[in-house]
Amino acid sequence: MDAWISRPGDVQAKVAEWEGTCGGLLEVESIVQPTGRPVFALTVTDPSVDEGLKRKLLAFVPHAHEPAPTAACMNVLSMILTGKALDGTKPPFDAEKVRKALLVIFIPDANPDGTARAPVECWDGSQYTNEEFWAWMRGPDPLTGKMWKRVDLFDVRKEENLPERIGIVYEPISEFEYVEPNRHPRSSLMRHLKRLTERRRYDALLDLHQTEFENSDRNCMVILPTTYDEQPPHLQREEMAWAREIVEAWQQAGARPIEEIRPLGYTGEQRQYFVNVWGPYYQQHAIVTSEVQNNSPATPPAQQQLLSEIAITTTLRRLMGGPQPQARGHAGRRRPNLAPCLASNQYPTASRRQRSAAGPRNAWGVR
Ligand SMILES: [Zn+2]
Repeated sequence: MDAWISRPGDVQAKVAEWEGTCGGLLEVESIVQPTGRPVFALTVTDPSVDEGLKRKLLAFVPHAHEPAPTAACMNVLSMILTGKALDGTKPPFDAEKVRKALLVIFIPDANPDGTARAPVECWDGSQYTNEEFWAWMRGPDPLTGKMWKRVDLFDVRKEENLPERIGIVYEPISEFEYVEPNRHPRSSLMRHLKRLTERRRYDALLDLHQTEFENSDRNCMVILPTTYDEQPPHLQREEMAWAREIVEAWQQAGARPIEEIRPLGYTGEQRQYFVNVWGPYYQQHAIVTSEVQNNSPATPPAQQQLLSEIAITTTLRRLMGGPQPQARGHAGRRRPNLAPCLASNQYPTASRRQRSAAGPRNAWGVR
């Protein structure tokens, strides 16, 4: 996979290389984890164009057990920055026009410490069952061997029943404390987001994830914010139209998205984590979550990466096209500047039977 970079050392080396060769177009900021690894926020734009004229995207990858979106961010960043994908191929857009029209920030890996603890670079479903994978994600419970509990923060000095090894989803934030990055304000992700959103307002926040789609023939979906029903109407309209564009782009590429687009269906404690941490962002920004299948032979790693890239490049194309309050069925929709589809990157071989099957009532069991 020549275009795949997700290991923290490889990400760090590539960022250093870009800083040397594309310095003026790339701004590198980082929060350093207690174990010494930088959590990058990478801004790419043409600084000769006034920022006030640009639309702005913040794309981020919260979870270390979901490496395909990291690889996707690095590849799309390469496209925007250098005009070439990491494997040297041409991007499905005009990089110079994107740099002039947009300001794009990638947080390609919000927990490199977790990524570095993973036993594999990517999860292709050949080595670990989902149960084994989940035990890597949250750590194995010493009593059951199955995955440990999901919490926003834990302190190894206070837990009676610690996992046999710390799950890779958890980020160390001190010598003794770990957080799940998208559930606690002290994570590097949420600290970056707070700082970056205080500096400027974004037209789009793209939350990039993977999940397993167990017992489903689907392999990607877009999810709306958990408090979608309470968001300002203009954000609801924007998110729904944007989500539909991503789903349509996946369909055009031959993927198998869940067509129904709805809010994250958590209840109870898990919902409360999101309300607490994301509530203020949901009132200010359009945010959608992309989920691409993980740890399954039905979606090999190169396709995991491509589907994650499609979520990003569709968002770029949408932002380049300007405000589009009615994305569906609007014949006059403008899509200047960018190539009309990802024809060079067609997603291979989903059968018609699979594509036409109705999407299951997935419980939106996002991990
Ligand atoms: Zn996730």
